[in-house]
Amino acid sequence: MNFNEIPKIELHTHLEGCAPPAFIRGLAAEKSIDISGIFDADGGYAFRDFDHFLSVYEAACTTLTSPEDFRRLTMAVLEETAAHGVVYMESFVSPDFCGGGDLAAWKDYLAAIEDAANEAEEKLGITMKGIVTGIRHFGPEACKPAAKCAAETFGSFITGYGMAGGEMMGRPGDYAYSFDMAREAGIPLTCHAGEWGGPSMVAETIRDLKVARIGHGIGAIEDADLVAEIADKGIVLEVCPGSNVVLKAVNGWADHPILKLRDAGVKVTVSTDDPPFFHTTMTAEYEMLHKTFGCDEADFKAMNEAALAAAFCDDETRTRVAKRLEPAA
Ligand SMILES: [Zn+2]
Repeated sequence: MNFNEIPKIELHTHLEGCAPPAFIRGLAAEKSIDISGIFDADGGYAFRDFDHFLSVYEAACTTLTSPEDFRRLTMAVLEETAAHGVVYMESFVSPDFCGGGDLAAWKDYLAAIEDAANEAEEKLGITMKGIVTGIRHFGPEACKPAAKCAAETFGSFITGYGMAGGEMMGRPGDYAYSFDMAREAGIPLTCHAGEWGGPSMVAETIRDLKVARIGHGIGAIEDADLVAEIADKGIVLEVCPGSNVVLKAVNGWADHPILKLRDAGVKVTVSTDDPPFFHTTMTAEYEMLHKTFGCDEADFKAMNEAALAAAFCDDETRTRVAKRLEPAA
């Protein structure tokens, strides 16, 4: 099986988190910003644990200071992603990192990102959509401008609202205002939960934020009733196994619950989250799922079909992308 060539749908990536380290180093050099401390001897991103990962991530983001930076970033990321067979990618984009939550600035950054996405679609055949993201550890108040930015720019490119960042900051209900604002604007919703917070965080996220998808969600496996509820409601999990292994949210690939969740009826999908941080690619994720659990072409096909059905894009895009999942004639 050629894992690289399988056409893939990826629902859970963070745009800045996909930044190749060399790209960030280049920007830092252009701007004389010293972030040498975030890299290891081989030039990769270096961090000790999840909290340190968040601070290294934010340090890398200090080099991204203009819409032009984000245009270049988006193109670099889509080139890398397309090289792993991804035909459709949703990426979290954050007004906090794009103009500090200011709506006018956000629109400028967004126009640059969208411009690069259009160029990549034409050149590389990969479609990208954006999910505006509040950063949880910045607190509930800071998520409100992000939701406002989502409501004001929801359309053909911005197709969702979500929340990322430190999951253990507050409870999901503390962030209900932002999610309500986005929902009232008709925006599909997702939220990171159950990467660290266990089943109660997943259950409260479903109850209080009324999301269609959950980022990670693997903590649900500890509660069989919750797993049944997720399956019944058709809530889709954006599972990122390699990320979970590197950040030690699970003890290793063999302990990852992705197939247990699937076999319990949950719709699971596969994504890379922040691939260069976690030394992964979509090709590597598929290879490890095959090696660890024996996943075959039929399994990957089912996961990609589940992902496309759960994608936040419009139906015209969904139909167009579906054709790219079919084997070449
Ligand atoms: Zn994530």
